[in-house]
Amino acid sequence: MRQGAIIWLTGLSGAGKTTIAHGVAQELLLRNCLLEVLDGDVVRTNLSLGLGFSKQDRDTNVRRIGFVAELLSRNGIIAIVAAISPYREIREQLKKTSTNFVEVYVNAPLCVCEFRDVKGLYAKAKAGQIKHFTGISDPYEEPLNPEIICQTNKFTPQQCVSQVLDYLEQQEFISALDFVTK
Ligand code: ADP
Repeated sequence: MRQGAIIWLTGLSGAGKTTIAHGVAQELLLRNCLLEVLDGDVVRTNLSLGLGFSKQDRDTNVRRIGFVAELLSRNGIIAIVAAISPYREIREQLKKTSTNFVEVYVNAPLCVCEFRDVKGLYAKAKAGQIKHFTGISDPYEEPLNPEIICQTNKFTPQQCVSQVLDYLEQQEFISALDFVTK
């Protein structure tokens, strides 16, 4: 069986987690890997439906995603997680208990994320229409020892995707020989 992994993308809203997650997924498909993307926004509409944005609820959400990701990775699947996951302690717990955990800090300065405002949420948060918004009215605790830092204000999405793939190759989660040859 091929080796699974958990690629955990953490960072502010609009930092680029979803973009990188799908870019990595596309590349892994070309390499014939089994994978699944667990997107925080999607998970909140099913697995974590009803959870809010208190620290306790955010940690519960992250724990649930971590549980599913672990089941997948244990079965040879690469689980790509895109979730703000703002609290360091819970991420560290997952890192300790999961096998093959790759923490990717998707890092763009808050002002860049605010400027991008992909979903229009920063404007609402700043107008006080959304409470507990990470970076505005709720904390984000940066990873201290991430395996990878993607600086999305300095590099293109494709460069960030390549950074993740290079790491996976170096660590032998994937191989350059994985490409489907026809
Ligand atoms: P998140 O999932 O972290 O909320 P998204 O991926 O939804 O963020 O949005 C990030 C936005 O930033 C997209 O519009 C994307 O095109 C843009 N962007 C610019 N540079 C990068 C980069 N290097 N990596 C990822 N996204 C980038």
